[in-house]
Amino acid sequence: MSTARGREQIDRRYSLLPEEISSCRRCDRLVEYCATFNDSSAQKHPEYHYWANPVPGFGDLRANLLIIGLAPGAQGANRTGRPFTGDAAGEVLYRALYNHGFSNQPAVRDRTDGLVLRNVFITNAVKCVPPKNRPTGPEKTNCLDWLKSELGLLKNVRVVLAMGKDSFESYVNLLNREGKIKRKSDLRFVHGSVIRLEGERRILVSTYHFSRYNLNTRVLTEEMVDMLFEDINQILSEG
Ligand code: SF4
Repeated sequence: MSTARGREQIDRRYSLLPEEISSCRRCDRLVEYCATFNDSSAQKHPEYHYWANPVPGFGDLRANLLIIGLAPGAQGANRTGRPFTGDAAGEVLYRALYNHGFSNQPAVRDRTDGLVLRNVFITNAVKCVPPKNRPTGPEKTNCLDWLKSELGLLKNVRVVLAMGKDSFESYVNLLNREGKIKRKSDLRFVHGSVIRLEGERRILVSTYHFSRYNLNTRVLTEEMVDMLFEDINQILSEG
């Protein structure tokens, strides 16, 4: 198959995937919880129409960098329908992406704000907002199929940035499912770690989640975020 034909097929498949993900109703608990955000009593920003559905990933299909968060924030991505858009974690993430050449603007607001990502695709391990930000094991397993579908379209990914331990574990589960690792326990989440697996072209980089809690407690600082993206750009420049 020619490269142009392959690209065409990927573009066609991708034109359907976000809708398929948004329509997913596989996890009863999460579907019920999502629906509660249609009621203004659960909305911190009732002036907005809440998305309140699974949130698909978005970005550059030719990306070398894939960022995986845990799940939509209740008042952020669950409201706007775009990963990391509308909450504190996203403010830091999108500012850093702009500062390091991955987007056209440092600030984001909603899906109509004109943001264009370059060389990066952003998604979550779990596409539905979970109560207390904690998806269950079966919910994470259910959603792994969607992560696999997204990754299947992203043929150029060289670096996978896992944000937080849960995202790291989801990606490791995917590697295990694909037979790319022998034992999941061989891979441990450590902030800043760079894992290169034999026979696997994607390099796994880990970071603490950019959550408001981690930022307020200075578990993670903006300086650390800058260093992280400098490292990622260095890895990508190595070809
Ligand atoms: S968490 Fe994933 S698998 Fe479960 S309902 Fe949402 S989109 Fe579907």
